[in-house]
Amino acid sequence: MGTADAVIVGAGVLGCATAFELARSGLRVVVLERGAPNREGSGTTAGNLHIQAIHTRRPGQEVPVDSARLLPVQHAAGLLWEDVETRLDADLEVRRNGGFMVAETPEQYAELRTKHRWETGIGLRTEVLDGDTARRELPLLGPSVTAATWCPHDGYANPLKTGPAYLAAARRHGARVHAFTPVTGLTRHTGAWRVHTAHDHYDTPVVVNAAGPWIAQVCALAGADVRMAPVAIQMHATVRVPPVLRHLVQHIGEGLSVKQVAAGNVLIGGGWPARRLDLAGRSEVSVESLVGNVDQAGRVLPFLAGLRLLRTWAGPLAATPDEMPLIGEVPGHTGLYVVGGTYAFTFAPLWAETLRRLVTGGRPRVDVTDFSPRRLMGTDRTAPKSRLPEGKTQC
Ligand SMILES: Cc1cc2nc3c(=O)[nH]c(=O)nc-3n(C[C@H](O)[C@H](O)[C@H](O)COP(=O)(O)OP(=O)(O)OC[C@H]3O[C@@H](n4cnc5c(N)ncnc54)[C@H](O)[C@@H]3O)c2cc1C
Repeated sequence: MGTADAVIVGAGVLGCATAFELARSGLRVVVLERGAPNREGSGTTAGNLHIQAIHTRRPGQEVPVDSARLLPVQHAAGLLWEDVETRLDADLEVRRNGGFMVAETPEQYAELRTKHRWETGIGLRTEVLDGDTARRELPLLGPSVTAATWCPHDGYANPLKTGPAYLAAARRHGARVHAFTPVTGLTRHTGAWRVHTAHDHYDTPVVVNAAGPWIAQVCALAGADVRMAPVAIQMHATVRVPPVLRHLVQHIGEGLSVKQVAAGNVLIGGGWPARRLDLAGRSEVSVESLVGNVDQAGRVLPFLAGLRLLRTWAGPLAATPDEMPLIGEVPGHTGLYVVGGTYAFTFAPLWAETLRRLVTGGRPRVDVTDFSPRRLMGTDRTAPKSRLPEGKTQC
């Protein structure tokens, strides 16, 4: 049995970053992780830092991200990524060499222009280039690319280093971390939370549920009904090759992200669905998605056709029914916070700072009221209706 000022459930990048922020502000923090830290969404992610407005949707994604609403949050997260390595005193292989988002059809070009207007509106510098200009800037782009936006702030970091570096820094500030320790119960005890594990319990006023695709299950332990829509998506890595691609390349119309990481491998992703989500084990990859994703990547960047694929993997993604992030205190459950949802790698430094401010009574740097779990709970299940695409209803 123990006590803590805050108990964090889950040691993915969000749990680790939150542990760091809370511990460095002087709180006694305990992190409980059901398996090994950084293995699930955070160990399988592409690690892109999405700063220009997000592409429309992953293949198979029913509800699009509300890109205009997410953009200011991406911008704020992008600013925080600038000194993450200094704050953690670690090399995370952060690269901010900018990114292209390409279009191949007139409709996609129109979307690029709309997106560019939103970006300009919030003071984010992007440029719309025609196909030839884009190819002059990045000669690797194929002839099917008719236009692109360029954003100098896009980038990526090594996810296998990021979560562990946050955790190491949290430990340096006194956080206690227990791996292979699933949380099995959340009860109220003398006005605080009692967090149960198989052999122990911790009493604490603050619980942060950062359980990724298991957020709903952990909320249910406290009697809170928070609807999530987890899925499994997949990624591919080529063999290592000498440096050839410095930028992140995405597609406005179809899920695609391509970049070359520090080790030399080219990573291909974009949220194509795995065969199925398996929350009890490892999700199986889909050959159909592999073929579709790699084919599309080779069309946009023809040099990829000459590279051998080394590995394909799938990872669980804590998607929400409205594809928007989730952060805040669970209504009716004082002291129980939840954090997760879409693009959590990009948002990790921002959401961790936001939670520190919420927990310690400060004012978050971005307004997160819209991302409250309230919209995904019991009777209040609707997202703001005006923001749903025409003809779509919340499922
Ligand atoms: C293939 C893929 C590509 C992605 N690409 C990008 C990208 O390019 N950019 C971007 O911004 N985002 C991307 N994402 C999304 C983002 O990276 C991940 O969603 C993010 O890393 C999730 O972090 P997390 O900490 O919320 O969850 P996770 O990393 O999934 O961690 C949750 C942790 O909670 C633990 N847990 C669950 N239940 C319990 C319990 N009862 N007790 C204790 N512990 C528990 C789990 O074991 C797990 O370790 C991608 C995701 C995937 C899968």
